[in-house]
Amino acid sequence: MRLSQFHLRTTKETPADAELVSHQLMLRAGMIRKLAAGLYTWSPLGLRVLRKVETVVREEMDRAGAIEMIMPTIQPRELWEESGRWEKFGDQLLKIKDRKEAEYCYSPTAEEAVTDFARQELNSYKQLPVNFYQIQTKFRDEIRPRFGVMRAREFVMKDAYSFHLTDEDLVREYHNMHAAYTRIFTRLGLDFRAVQADSGAIGGDASQEFQVLADSGEDSIAFSTGSDYAANMEKAQAAAPAPRPAAGEAMNKVATPTQRTCEEVAALLGIPLQRTVKSVAVMADDAASGQHFVLALVRGDHAVNEVKLGKVPGLAGYRLATEAEIREHLGSEPGFLGPIDAKKAIRVVADRDVAAMADFVVGANEVGFHIAGVNWGRDLPEPHDIADIRNVVEGDKAADGGEIRIVRGIEVGHVFQLGRKYSEAMQFTVLDENGKATAPTMGCYGIGVSRIVAAAIEQNHDANGIVWPAPMAPWAVAVCVINPKNDAAVNDAAQRLLAELRGNGIDAVLDDRGLRPGAMFADIELIGIPHRVVVSERGLAAGTFEYRARRGAEAENLGREELFARLLS
Ligand code: ATP
Ligand code: MG
Repeated sequence: MRLSQFHLRTTKETPADAELVSHQLMLRAGMIRKLAAGLYTWSPLGLRVLRKVETVVREEMDRAGAIEMIMPTIQPRELWEESGRWEKFGDQLLKIKDRKEAEYCYSPTAEEAVTDFARQELNSYKQLPVNFYQIQTKFRDEIRPRFGVMRAREFVMKDAYSFHLTDEDLVREYHNMHAAYTRIFTRLGLDFRAVQADSGAIGGDASQEFQVLADSGEDSIAFSTGSDYAANMEKAQAAAPAPRPAAGEAMNKVATPTQRTCEEVAALLGIPLQRTVKSVAVMADDAASGQHFVLALVRGDHAVNEVKLGKVPGLAGYRLATEAEIREHLGSEPGFLGPIDAKKAIRVVADRDVAAMADFVVGANEVGFHIAGVNWGRDLPEPHDIADIRNVVEGDKAADGGEIRIVRGIEVGHVFQLGRKYSEAMQFTVLDENGKATAPTMGCYGIGVSRIVAAAIEQNHDANGIVWPAPMAPWAVAVCVINPKNDAAVNDAAQRLLAELRGNGIDAVLDDRGLRPGAMFADIELIGIPHRVVVSERGLAAGTFEYRARRGAEAENLGREELFARLLS
């Protein structure tokens, strides 16, 4: 490949509307161009990188025994009605109509399509297990598309779906995919961690996310210093609290005329924030109690985790109570709420840490007052529910004896045990060994192929631009020719070197654009080529090439043998 025959268009200026360094550098390197919000064109340069990522993903999926196929991006409403996700998927699902007014969606994921394929193709246990995958464009109408291809609306995903007769076999394949993902992200040179994840709305029991560690990541990941335990915030648990101490104080009402937050109340009373309790009023709706008011309690220095709270029995789909509802049930205003209610009719859900507190402070359900010295069992009934409903925080004790630390991550992959949700909803059965129709159990495994490109840049860049991990680089080596138009000997030598490199299986590109050395080197550094070799008149005379590694500090003059030894090592 010769750059004079390629399309490379770089810029020096940092684009004003790009916040993340990966977004800035992808634009500056000319890898992507925006078409509309969350929609990006991959330039020839960008596509080379995307294809390299795809290649690693494909090789490892194939090696792990998955079978590649491809499914349509446009999928009929009827199929999505069968799974119930036409409505449930929400506004991320882009719905479209054809000329006959028939409705379709643009696939955000493909459980329905693959299950439809499977029910047409598979009818016997002998055809199981099987794992189908595709590398295909997805569309999600994200509320806030941002950070370029990191959170786009249209993006490339590798999605795989496995089918099994038994749950044990699903677990085996889940581990197989986990191992394949570990190989993929290791080969791509990424610093990553597999973290336990909440199974979420899709249902299913076990789920892990592969997170690339980066301060710019949108996700928080908790890990323990005591073991390899790592989990996302929806799932992470601290150690259970120590048993509740005995009551030491009498209950007393304190005036807090303008103090509404736990911080303000703790400051006024001169007590640690950890002695206060925050009351969050929500409305839940379940079959047993219908629409009802619930007070969720966390320690003053903690925050409610919405997903965890939604897992408390009866609280699925809860919402925050309105001020009118709060007034109706507690006769007070936000800022002064608490679980001590004269009628004792309110359902109280206490975080584990709150249930283990003594002598604590809560709102008095009276504007301008709080109550201190409160104790469970004595001043108010024991909580109806005790559950882990809070976010872990840095420094929490972990169950393994270590300490919880929190870092940021970018989710690049997800492995998931789905179970029989789709096979049952879509009436997909196979005959088992006894000739009985049985619904197969499923796993699904996603990788954000296009997101990986941005995530890799977040981890690998310097002041001069991108520093690609070798397997992702658009080319391994750039052969830079000084003054190619006027110096036939130098030009010939460079062409010969290029041919030789390629003959040795090295993916090299010739920069024969005729730029001044400074501008040429700046481009090659910006686009992150791992190795640079300069062919010049001076070098030719001395029988050497000037070599510099993208990560190295100094350029060196190397003879031909040394150069090849270096590039092939
Ligand atoms: P996120 O929490 O980041 O929205 P998700 O949980 O919705 O991700 P999955 O449904 O598990 O993602 O999709 C599989 C993979 O696809 C993710 O691990 C991620 O790498 C990638 N992905 C998801 N949404 C986007 C997006 N808007 N842009 C780019 N990649 C995405
Ligand atoms: Mg998402």
